[in-house]
Amino acid sequence: METSRLNRDQARQLLAKEDLLELGRRAHERRRAKHPDNLVTFVIDRNINYTNICTCQCRFCAFYRRPENPDAYLIDLPTLRQKINETLELGGTQILLQGGLHPDLGIDYYERLLRTIKTEFPTIHIHGFSAPEIWHISRQSGLELEETLARLIRAGLGSIPGGGAEILDDRVRGRISPNKIGWRQWLAVMAAAHRQGLRSTATMMFGSVESDEELIEHLFRVRELQDETGGFTAFIPWSFQPDHTDLQEEVPRPATGVDYLRVLAVSRLVLDNIDNIQASWVTQGAKLAQVALYFGANDFGSTMIEENVVAAAGVHFRLSLPEMISTIKEAGFTPAQRNTLYQTLKVYTDDCTPR
Ligand code: SF4
Repeated sequence: METSRLNRDQARQLLAKEDLLELGRRAHERRRAKHPDNLVTFVIDRNINYTNICTCQCRFCAFYRRPENPDAYLIDLPTLRQKINETLELGGTQILLQGGLHPDLGIDYYERLLRTIKTEFPTIHIHGFSAPEIWHISRQSGLELEETLARLIRAGLGSIPGGGAEILDDRVRGRISPNKIGWRQWLAVMAAAHRQGLRSTATMMFGSVESDEELIEHLFRVRELQDETGGFTAFIPWSFQPDHTDLQEEVPRPATGVDYLRVLAVSRLVLDNIDNIQASWVTQGAKLAQVALYFGANDFGSTMIEENVVAAAGVHFRLSLPEMISTIKEAGFTPAQRNTLYQTLKVYTDDCTPR
C-alpha cells in the first residue's frame, strides 16, 4: 500500500503515461484502504433549479436563459412544495438547490426561500448554492462573504455543492466561463464556508480546453485547501458535455470513457485527504459508472429524481432506486443509502432489503 504523497510531476506522469489498468489498480487499492467495508453509497435527492435566469452565460452551459427568453422561469411556491413532497415520498433526505445568477434577487429572497423550506419541511437537508451563487448573492446584497454565509446558514442552508469549479485555473475559466468568478474566489467561498462549519463537495469539469497541467493544478488546489480546512466531504469529477453549448465547436473531441477513468483514478490518488470520490453516472452512464468503482470511486452520487442541467446538454441517463441498487450489486459491491454528510442510513443486503 502506497503511503507517500504524490507531487505535481508524479501526478502529471500518471495521468499522461501510466498503464490504464495499473492506474485503476492503484486507485482501487487506495479506495479499499479508506473504505474496507465494500459499501458503495448513494443519496436519494432531487435537484431543484429554482431559476434558469442567469447573467453569467458560461459557454459550456445549455441550461441558462436570459430574463427575456420565453422559457425563463423563477420557481413558484406551489411547484417548490410539490417537488419537495415528492422527494420525501420517494425516501429522499436532501434537495440540491441551485440556480442561475439572477440579476434581481438579493439575500432576502434566498433567506425567505430557505426559511420557507425549513419551516414546512424541517427534516429535509438543503444542499444548496454553489460558490458562484454565494459570491453573486453577497455582491448583489452589498455584504461580506462571511456575513452572507452566516445569514444563509441561519436561514437553513445545510451544506454547499461544489459546482462552478470547472477547472480552477483562470486561463481556462477565461475561455469557458469568462463572466464567472476566478479560481481564487471559488476557493475563498469554500474556505469561508468551511470556517463556519459548513461542509461542501468539490467538483471538476474536465475535457474542454484545459491542458493536463491545468487539470492537475486543479486537484492540488483542492488538496491544499482540504489540508487547511478539512471541509470537503467528496470530490466529483465529470466530463464536459458539449451538445447545445457555445463551446461545442471548439472541443471537437469530447472526453472518452478511458479519459474519464484515468482522471478519476488520478483524483483518488492525489486527493488522499478527501474520503469520498463520486462516480458520475449522470454524465457517463451506469455501465461506465460500474467500472469507475474499480478506478477509485466509492460513491454513486444521487438517484437524482430530477436533473435539468446535464439534460439540457442532451444527456439523459436515468436510474431509479431499484436500478441503482442492482447496478451497484452487479458491480460486486453492497449498496448503502447515505445522507448528505456521508453517514450510512440503510445497507441493502443480498436479498435487496434494507437493514
Ligand atoms: S453554469 Fe451556472 S453560472 Fe454558468 S451560465 Fe449556467 S447556470 Fe449560469
